[in-house]
Amino acid sequence: MEKEYLIGVDLGGTKIEAGLVDLNGKVVKKIVMPTEASKGKAQVIQNIVFCVNKLRKDTILGVGVGIPGPTDFRRGVAMNPPNLPGWKEVPLKKILEEKLHLNVAVENDAKCFALAEYKCGYEKKVQNLVGITVGTGIGSGIIINGKLYRGSADSAGEIGHMKIVDDGAKCGCGNSGCLEQYASGRAIERMFFEMTKKKLSTEEIAELSKTNAKARKAIETAAMYLGRGLANVAVTLSPEIIVVDGGVAKIKNFVSMAEKEALNHMKILPRKVPIIHSKTEDAGILGAASIVF
Ligand SMILES: [Zn+2]
Repeated sequence: MEKEYLIGVDLGGTKIEAGLVDLNGKVVKKIVMPTEASKGKAQVIQNIVFCVNKLRKDTILGVGVGIPGPTDFRRGVAMNPPNLPGWKEVPLKKILEEKLHLNVAVENDAKCFALAEYKCGYEKKVQNLVGITVGTGIGSGIIINGKLYRGSADSAGEIGHMKIVDDGAKCGCGNSGCLEQYASGRAIERMFFEMTKKKLSTEEIAELSKTNAKARKAIETAAMYLGRGLANVAVTLSPEIIVVDGGVAKIKNFVSMAEKEALNHMKILPRKVPIIHSKTEDAGILGAASIVF
């Protein structure tokens, strides 16, 4: 008998991770390949099509794609993902549906992550959850009463762009002092450079922090700012839990340092909001698959 599956595609700036997902929310087959973003839009789309065709089996109910940037879910358009050069208002849903002859949905990857955490992350179901991805930039998805909150113009969750520092560093969004400029990987690199005049990657700074006080200081400062930002989210929404993932979240103790700072600023709440590092495997794939319905 034919079985029914979904396909989830986590489109990143450097790699595409795609998975065949059964209706119990289990990734039964997975494929990873380079995005080849520098070769342009057509190549990236061809790579997505290749992944989906490799995974196709029995009945595919639909394909969900997580986009690393602002996305118009209703129209199925990737607006301008900063890590995909040459992408501007790409109608990805329409393009993929024509190539694949399957039902396709596209959504911002941080919103996909929050959905995956909500649907697959916890045995004890929660109804209100915020998922934050801290990598090169900062994204988030907000689940309220069991539903993804999209806000007007689908643009809720831009937590990375709350103002956190007066007269602070300029941000790509056009403002200055945004959380993303103080708590992301790019922020760690900038703060380390300001102290040492050395250009290192976030991974290199994380490694160096085991023995170097300035590297440690850059990471601790970022964690402190993230904690303050997340405290603002916690006192505004009072979710049951805030889950953090992304490259920066993997730095040892980063999430626990952020939580420690955040808890200091939640005094008004009768129940403090725990901030934890995600334990969900393949959250990107599961989240993308879950937007199909
Ligand atoms: Zn900004």
